[in-house]
Amino acid sequence: MTTKDLANLIFPNITKTVEDIEKMYPKREVDGEVTRFAPSPTGFMHIGGCYQAITDYLIAKNTNGIFYLRNEDTDKAREKEDAVKIIMDILNYYNIVPDEYEYEGDVVGKYGPYIQSERKEIYHVFIKHLIEIGRAYPCFCTPDELSVLREKQEGMKVRTGYYGRFSKCRKISIDDAYDRIKNGEKFVIRFKSKGDFENKIWYEDLAKGRLHLSENDIDDVIMKSDNMLPTYHFAHVIDDHLMHTTIVVRGEEWLPSVTKHLEMFNAFGFDAPKYIHTPLIQKKEDGKLRKISKRKDPEANMEYFKEMGYPKDAVVESLLTIINSNYEEWRDNNPDAPFTEFKFDAKKMSSSGALYDLMKLEDISKNIISRMNKDELYEESYTWACKYDEKLKELIYKDVDYYKNIINIEREQAKPRKDIAKYSDIYNLIYYMYDELFNPEYEWMKITDTTEIKNIINTYINEYYDRDDDKDTWFNKIKELAENLGYAANMKDYKKNPDNYKGNVADIATVIRVSLTGKKNTPDLYEILKLFGIDRIRSRFNKI
Ligand code: GLU
Repeated sequence: MTTKDLANLIFPNITKTVEDIEKMYPKREVDGEVTRFAPSPTGFMHIGGCYQAITDYLIAKNTNGIFYLRNEDTDKAREKEDAVKIIMDILNYYNIVPDEYEYEGDVVGKYGPYIQSERKEIYHVFIKHLIEIGRAYPCFCTPDELSVLREKQEGMKVRTGYYGRFSKCRKISIDDAYDRIKNGEKFVIRFKSKGDFENKIWYEDLAKGRLHLSENDIDDVIMKSDNMLPTYHFAHVIDDHLMHTTIVVRGEEWLPSVTKHLEMFNAFGFDAPKYIHTPLIQKKEDGKLRKISKRKDPEANMEYFKEMGYPKDAVVESLLTIINSNYEEWRDNNPDAPFTEFKFDAKKMSSSGALYDLMKLEDISKNIISRMNKDELYEESYTWACKYDEKLKELIYKDVDYYKNIINIEREQAKPRKDIAKYSDIYNLIYYMYDELFNPEYEWMKITDTTEIKNIINTYINEYYDRDDDKDTWFNKIKELAENLGYAANMKDYKKNPDNYKGNVADIATVIRVSLTGKKNTPDLYEILKLFGIDRIRSRFNKI
């Protein structure tokens, strides 16, 4: 028996050769980098995945390259329904749209299938080849035997794993292996490593720099027994070779496996891609850094940002600020440029953790929302409310113009108000502008006596209020009102002789503000008075 006989026994229907497959995936006619986002369909778009996808997208756009999406569904046990839709929806939503992908039956791109389970035959051709050349072999060890091996290694205080003298099935003769398979014994296929753990090799990660690593000597499983699907390690090597990926951006949890991958590329005589191993996304809690966790932190899931109503650009911007340390400076100098004009530099990526700060997102978001005009903010917030906030939706729907006027206070001007960080903030910021929701706990400040309050607001409405006043006239009248009632018209006078006055003009303005809104802090009072008009002002004053 030869390795060829063994290979034919395992893959009787595989007639194509490595060369045949290579011909199906010719060199790409593109000068730029080829990147890919390759999530496993677990039904969850993690913030770290989005970080990687944005990095991939940016590299491809920077270099006029290609960014494609590959669905890594070889772990059937972990697969969730709708998982690809979740990923695709998020990528589309944030405008990180891949150039090539496979989705709901549509295949876009010539390097597919872009779903690993549809590439089984391809993997088999390459595995068959490895068996033929003596670089892969069947392993019959059961899970129980493997745990015994692990315990034994732990007892001996040596490295655990299937390597060197511990790789039992490596020593089985081809004849025996052939017979055992013929007898229906279960097996996996392992790669036959030629590495020596004592040897060190230099490996250059684009983000982490030069690393001195031990050669791989593990005989890793490359094909599983039940469904004959490849493992991640093998599928990565074959797919990224055939699809001509030039830069693999992936989580740093894969860094310890990189020597395995390099050895496998080498076994086929393929060039390995370059790698960027991305840092863990962290958050600060009680002054300490920790990994953002899927279990504990809602922001681990990209759906969270949609549900909260952060504008999509704000979310992408917030991730870009942790992708490259010089991004914010670039953005300050290029406030209106699309982010794809930013030149990504792997060296400016954090090599330890990347700290994601929700407060930073809020800042970015407040700026972005403050620059929207009232129609844009209306559109965005209404679309959001229709999906996530019934109460806000009702308010807007009832009177669109009134809503637009409210959100337009201190908007569409050089220094717009920055109080909204997300659409879910809006309801609480504006509900009191609606009569049916106006039922306040008045936040009175210095003046709390009801008789005095009534005196101020009645004098104001009867003797001073005029809807047509411009802002200066309006404010001068408030000053006059203050003076008339024994309050200082300006702070300077008041500070000089506080005993001469009952208070000052700010106290008067506060009484008017709180009477109208219940709140001590609101957007511009002049604008509110203008928007309300005499009837609403009177009716609110009458409530006191
Ligand atoms: N499917 C792998 C994962 O989700 C992808 C790693 C890679 O990008 O190569 O972790």
